[in-house]
Amino acid sequence: PRPWEDPAATPFVRVEGVTKRFGSFTAVQDVSLDIYRGELFCLLGGSGCGKSTLLRMLAGFEDVSAGRVIIDGRDQTGVPPYLRDTNMMFQSYALFPHLSVEKNIAYGLRREGLPRAEIATRVTDMLSLVQMQGFAARRPHQLSGGQRQRVALARALVKRPKLLLLDEPLGALDRKLREETQLELIKIQQSLGITFIVVTHDQEEAMTLSTRLGVMTEGRIVQTGTPHEIYEFPRSRFVADFIGSVNLFDGRIAVDGTDSATIACPGAGMDIHISHSVAGTVGQAVTVAIRPEKIEMLASPSGTRPNAVEGRVEEVAYMGNLSVYHVRLDSGMIVRVNMSNRSRYDDDVPRPGASVVLEWDGSAGVVLEG
Ligand code: ATP
Repeated sequence: PRPWEDPAATPFVRVEGVTKRFGSFTAVQDVSLDIYRGELFCLLGGSGCGKSTLLRMLAGFEDVSAGRVIIDGRDQTGVPPYLRDTNMMFQSYALFPHLSVEKNIAYGLRREGLPRAEIATRVTDMLSLVQMQGFAARRPHQLSGGQRQRVALARALVKRPKLLLLDEPLGALDRKLREETQLELIKIQQSLGITFIVVTHDQEEAMTLSTRLGVMTEGRIVQTGTPHEIYEFPRSRFVADFIGSVNLFDGRIAVDGTDSATIACPGAGMDIHISHSVAGTVGQAVTVAIRPEKIEMLASPSGTRPNAVEGRVEEVAYMGNLSVYHVRLDSGMIVRVNMSNRSRYDDDVPRPGASVVLEWDGSAGVVLEG
């Protein structure tokens, strides 16, 4: 079993009821979290949600106002950063501008007074790990943003910390380089077996990198899970909406059977059928969340799905691999539908003004508390 599903597994990092106050402002509120050895765990949230503050408390750069931080079985609360088995990677700007790449990487080991030969071997290993062998003598200003980022990573890893904390490690990179570097980061993390905790505000990045992620808002972690769990089984409107795009249908539970349910959604002018029972009572306000790629768009009803509703295409956004359709239902509600562009020719695709039928299965909708 995966460690977080194994009740016998011991967490490597345990955050227990951690709170951080700055004066009367609470930046992190009663966060509890277990992270296991070898995980690449992402803290994901919008600007100001407290993710950097939480990371800094794990590193010891920030004191906790309440709660405990336990790393590898030892209570680290109040222990200064240099006495923790952790290292933190800041953005590339933290490189020393007057030192070569090699000396930047070696810096921490020299301070520890390691033998020269040992330092040289470890620096060489790190340079090859981040594929920067030919750049040892360069200064940071002679490197691209992506190369600087890799040097920063090498510098953080060379001390072989048990835990590496990374604050927006790929933040300075453009999209293409960022995507490539994400895959490299995963490879490096897996080859070293070091536990990574990564702060990011980029949900696609969190989805790509994570073994698990914690979604944060207003100082709290609102859901923790694998990328798949978070995307397919969000537990709140906030998480459903924050990760990817989603259609939210407000309604009330009309029928709750043993293996099916019906949600009356007057705003959409329809009843949504769900192929499982829901937690709640008849009449209770709920929201049905449906991802745009789970909806089928047809010219006429197939008669094979429990959910079907008519509408008219209002807008189409061509994205290359897929097209995003905005379909206005008769009720006035706009539904977003993603259709992958399987054909190279666009003769067949619905255009603005076209009458269409939207259909989805009973398993497509996630029922959230209203
Ligand atoms: P971003 O992605 O914008 O960096 P974040 O989620 O990392 O956001 P934090 O840096 O953790 O956010 O900050 C959380 C909140 O705490 C913010 O409202 C911030 O203004 C506040 N805060 C952070 N550090 C301090 C401080 N030293 N004194 C007062 N308030 C602070």
